Amino acid sequence: MMINRYLSNRPFRRSSTFPGNSNARVMKLIFVLLASLGFTACSDNDSSTDSQSPSTTVTTRDSGMVVTVQKADGITVHTLTAPEAVFANSTHIIESENSLVAFDTQFLLPNARDMRAYADEIGKPIDRVYITHDHPDHFLGSEAFNDRPVYALQEVADLIQTNGENEVIEKQGDFGADNIASTFVVPQVVEPGSLMIDGIAYEFEKVVDAEAANQLVIRIPNHGVVITGDLVYSDVHLILAGQVDPWTVALENLAAVDGYPVVLPGHGAPNDPSVYQENIDWLATAGQLIATVSTAEEFKQGLIDAFPNLGMPTAIDFVTPILFPAE
Ligand SMILES: [Zn+2]
Repeated sequence: MMINRYLSNRPFRRSSTFPGNSNARVMKLIFVLLASLGFTACSDNDSSTDSQSPSTTVTTRDSGMVVTVQKADGITVHTLTAPEAVFANSTHIIESENSLVAFDTQFLLPNARDMRAYADEIGKPIDRVYITHDHPDHFLGSEAFNDRPVYALQEVADLIQTNGENEVIEKQGDFGADNIASTFVVPQVVEPGSLMIDGIAYEFEKVVDAEAANQLVIRIPNHGVVITGDLVYSDVHLILAGQVDPWTVALENLAAVDGYPVVLPGHGAPNDPSVYQENIDWLATAGQLIATVSTAEEFKQGLIDAFPNLGMPTAIDFVTPILFPAE
């Protein structure tokens, strides 16, 4: 589990918000920049990650994805986390007595197919798949699950239907047709509320205007599990794709709800509720830096200095051209 010592308890400056931009612009920039860095095959086979508890196991797939398996009061929680070179996307599979429910579908096609292979290896049917938000690194792997029901919030399903084809074309151009699926699933609609699946109660919430415009948060209240989507980045620097203030409020709201010791993020390893304050502190620091420094280098170095233990510092580079456009 991450132990960071950084700029805790600094006053949060409400005035320091991310300059106006659209999420689409930021995500487009992210992928253009990543492509310019040169995509390399997954080669991180380090499986030395510490186990989080005696019931947690951590292994690494041939694809490079790290698999964390946790027991949570009668269900099993499987998390597959991509290497940091490809955003450290985390996707989750909840295993109950008779079936599986999957959350997000990975970004790259090889990882999506490996997630599907992993699910099939468990040996229980995939009841359904949920997409937490409309960013391409969360839905472009849905081809690997196109024989199963896929659900998302209405707004997310609409955006995937509208923008999905362009995302495929653009990302295939950046990453190659071998790495980006040619097709995707337009999800069916999940309404906020409660649902029983294989005897397990799930609660679905919509959070707006945080990292994404519409974010699905899923709680499994009787098992202490919350799936946060990209409201939470764990052990890695945040991609500042949303505005500091509403994102911070969303994290404060997550932190205010007790009883969910297992936090499953959109990026990075599974964590516990301490990750909320860590993300709040990161956003506060980013906001302070935006208000006080004048160069991308100062901004990035300030975040690296404040959070030396976080991985994926390239996440900072994705947004600096927008934050400091004059350079
Ligand atoms: Zn994401």
